[in-house]
Amino acid sequence: MVADNRDDFSAKIKRTLAERVGFLCSCPSCRVPTIGPHTNPEKSANVGVAAHITAAAIGGPRYDANMSPADRSGISNGIWLCENCARIIDKDPVSYPVKLLQEWKTVAEQEIKEKRGKVALSSTAFPILEAELIYDTSGRVFNGYSTEILNKYGNKTIEMSEVQNLPMHYKLDWSYELILVNNSETPVYNVSIEYVSGVKFSYIEDLPKINNLKPFDKFTLKTKVVNYFKGTYKDADFQILQKYPPLIQGSVIRLKYQDNDRNNHSNLLTIKENGIIESQKEI
Ligand SMILES: [Zn+2]
Repeated sequence: MVADNRDDFSAKIKRTLAERVGFLCSCPSCRVPTIGPHTNPEKSANVGVAAHITAAAIGGPRYDANMSPADRSGISNGIWLCENCARIIDKDPVSYPVKLLQEWKTVAEQEIKEKRGKVALSSTAFPILEAELIYDTSGRVFNGYSTEILNKYGNKTIEMSEVQNLPMHYKLDWSYELILVNNSETPVYNVSIEYVSGVKFSYIEDLPKINNLKPFDKFTLKTKVVNYFKGTYKDADFQILQKYPPLIQGSVIRLKYQDNDRNNHSNLLTIKENGIIESQKEI
């Protein structure tokens, strides 16, 4: 006889988990309907799974020994997923930790709550993603004497006071916040950005793991631009006093996202004067 040490969900809990997300997969990039008609007109066919957030049995994915069997088989430990997603999260529990799955569940239930009983606008409503670059700080750091100064002094010690008005190497940097705003009444999903052309940001903060934007919500990403510059300190100061220096103007970033129906969209963002970003739809 096989000992049954699994803390499985009751049929009622499974059903409630499914109903609370409208029988859609709770994975934000999936959302497939998990229920539909069976070939037998008297029946429905289900491809959804009440997955355990922490495993039902020892050795399973995300198993938490500190949980009681009652908690382990309780509704708060369940998430409704399609069969594919359920398999993926259990094969790679490190990429799909407890916290992430709990967030998926909250977001999926929230979405259904907002849509329930309303006319589906999703097919016609178009998401509008806009971007803006907000200046934060800029600065210069001494990055070495120029060859002119080095040649002039040879092996002698360089006196900073004597050479301070001569050209030197500087590392200039500008910090910005890249703001991505969903300026529409329809949510967007799976937002990603990629560099296309022009000066490359030396740093762009990663998007959150759940990279969905609700209507009129925004992401704020810290970014940095670095430029290696040769000139006097006055020239260098002139550069960094420009909040949006000419070198970043014309840079292009691609912004990708999906709408409610999982159609792909892509915008080309071109940085203009004063951090204004022109957004042009590609698809
Ligand atoms: Zn799924």
